[in-house]
Amino acid sequence: MYKFIIMTVVFLCGASIGGAQEQEQEPRKVTIIHAGTLMAVAGEDTLAEQSIIIEDGKITDIQSSYISEVDDAEMTIVDLRDKVVMAGLMDMHVHLAMLWGSNKNSADAALKGVSNAYKTLMIGFTTVRDLGATDDTIFKLRKAINDGDIIGPRILAAGNIIGVGGRENCKECNGAESCRKTTRDMINAGADWIKIYSSCSGSKLCSNEDGSPMFFDDEIKAITEVAKKYGIKVAAHSHPRDSALQVLKYGIASIEHGSFINDEAMDIMIRDGVYYVPTVSVMDMLEEVLEKAEGSADMLAHNQNFYDNNPGKIFEAYQKGVKIATGTDAGVVPHGKNYREMERFVELGMTNADALKAGTINSAELIDMSDELGTIEVGKIADIIAMVGNPLEDIKDIENIVFVMKEGKVYK
Ligand SMILES: [Zn+2]
Repeated sequence: MYKFIIMTVVFLCGASIGGAQEQEQEPRKVTIIHAGTLMAVAGEDTLAEQSIIIEDGKITDIQSSYISEVDDAEMTIVDLRDKVVMAGLMDMHVHLAMLWGSNKNSADAALKGVSNAYKTLMIGFTTVRDLGATDDTIFKLRKAINDGDIIGPRILAAGNIIGVGGRENCKECNGAESCRKTTRDMINAGADWIKIYSSCSGSKLCSNEDGSPMFFDDEIKAITEVAKKYGIKVAAHSHPRDSALQVLKYGIASIEHGSFINDEAMDIMIRDGVYYVPTVSVMDMLEEVLEKAEGSADMLAHNQNFYDNNPGKIFEAYQKGVKIATGTDAGVVPHGKNYREMERFVELGMTNADALKAGTINSAELIDMSDELGTIEVGKIADIIAMVGNPLEDIKDIENIVFVMKEGKVYK
């Protein structure tokens, strides 16, 4: 350890006490990652034998060769010479602290949230967008993680979903004036995003292709206008064809699920740069539901229709050029398996590189953090992960995360 001795003259109450004393100044703390294979930008060629230099939570330099010294600094070397190193993964649709049923309370939501946050970070997801929680516990969890008291990913949180019709975990609004107030209340409570429940749940028959939108136009307009005033983006839960077409008229940033978006909706999304977060991981759950074959014949047919048509719809949007980001709906599907979205993307026909791009670069763009996250480049926040195997060759290798760094701090 280098020690720097500096001479200081101490003045007390404006009068010199006439002595000089020695003080130790802490040296700079620098971490150097030796990356055997660096996927700095998902979708671009990887580089061999690179050194990533990290200081104060940021990437300050990338050198092509293994270096082990930086002038005047205390060094920590991380040996990832036999690993693939890439930017931290991102999940744009989770519910870390959402509970269901009649006995919901903040304490249980907090405990679940702490556990789910830990699981999420440990598999390499360093940033999540939380699109709906039981109460404001998620904002407290976000703060506790930011303060370093709890281990978890960076959270952008919506808090309660804004909805109509008595949906569980929603804040109700009714009429434009009421929707304006509810949106303001959510933003004042700490929402980074506004999430609206613009169609009914995928687990109900009314979410089918011809299902009716739940809001009136003036209500959605009121919500998006307030959000825009505060510089906050709106994500819309939407299954039926017409609810997607409705919300797209009012400047929303992302369609969640989008199970029955049609060509017209896709064209508008391309034109307006609206993101598609298809939450295809839900197919894992649907597979189980269909296997059990419980419930009414109508509901079975409904689930089968989702299962048969949704992956094709997502592939169609991908081929057309709709921007796609990863979002698992973890909370509906299990937490700690957020990699499933990228695996499902590849299963439905996306290239491995594009699936990894959806989980990094695209997600960073959706949350307006492209300057800070999504790639390993000088100046960006040091959210860095490493794995055994290469997900460009086998996407399942994205499950083999052995190293997680968030903002320059090593968690795994
Ligand atoms: Zn959801």
